[in-house]
Amino acid sequence: MKIVFSEKLSLLHLGNNHPMRGDRYEKAIQRFYELGLNFEISDFSMAEESEIALFHTTDYIQKVKEISRKGYPDISPDTPGFKGIYEAAAWSVGATLKAVEIAKQEGLGINLAGGWHHAFPETGRGFCIFSDTGISIQKLRKEGKKVMIIDYDAHHGDGIQRAFGEEEDIITVSFHQDPATLYPYLTGYIEETHKTNINVPLPPLSGSEEFVYAFSEIIPPLINRESPDFLIVEMGVDGHCGCYVANLSISKAGYREVAVILSKIVKEKGIPTVLVRGGGFVYPHYADAWAVQIAAFDDQSIEMPLNDCITKSIGTEIHRIVKEVKSKAGLN
Ligand SMILES: [Zn+2]
Repeated sequence: MKIVFSEKLSLLHLGNNHPMRGDRYEKAIQRFYELGLNFEISDFSMAEESEIALFHTTDYIQKVKEISRKGYPDISPDTPGFKGIYEAAAWSVGATLKAVEIAKQEGLGINLAGGWHHAFPETGRGFCIFSDTGISIQKLRKEGKKVMIIDYDAHHGDGIQRAFGEEEDIITVSFHQDPATLYPYLTGYIEETHKTNINVPLPPLSGSEEFVYAFSEIIPPLINRESPDFLIVEMGVDGHCGCYVANLSISKAGYREVAVILSKIVKEKGIPTVLVRGGGFVYPHYADAWAVQIAAFDDQSIEMPLNDCITKSIGTEIHRIVKEVKSKAGLN
């Protein structure tokens, strides 16, 4: 199993007081070694401008280049600009593109510094500069592949929905905290759900029970119906109870369980799969919650306490939500 990584990924550092610190990937890799995860490191190239242009507008790419030269202004109020930001973002896109190539050959590719799902074609936002997954989808699509993206970062994958939500050959799925209570606020609701764009808003305080229930009700029948040629998984762990940016309470056991469900299906069907990290900002929780998922995808077992969140049952609300989502997605 290969993880795409080099010290270049730490260049995407949004500041010492910003949650998106450049040292997250290096710390995760060190932690994986400590946990006994068995993997190889794979090197990669910086994404070409022509690749970035598969998703982003020329005007925006030029704007990022200018910010990169001058060091200012900011990309957006929550996404600071700095000298070298173009190269830093292009390295992380290159790492996801490399993970896609590895997945084509070996079935599984991983980039911990990927999953910039809030970027729009014409602007960066929500800590995201270039949409590595959006660029990858466009590239795979040019090869005639039907791509599915499953995103269970705590925040709605709004950049991906905006770009591909109405495209029938791309299946976009996002599990996230109810956006009435969390960024990006404006999208991610059940009402936007249809056959090929599926939103599962989890009420605040939802835990593993609710997450795993919703996932297992929706994902296996959806993959069976759509038979994608390629799968991208944004395995964000900012819904873990130890992470402060959201109000979900998903334990490592919950993340492991969905990874087990998903890896079983993709192996049975032979679907090449890329894992990108998404959010998760408190060490060692993010590293551990990524590790249990990666281990599940590679049939490895690593020892750590998995039931590490106190959860309260939120009652029948999740059953109503899942029923409505399935109805809108035509999964009944
Ligand atoms: Zn997030």
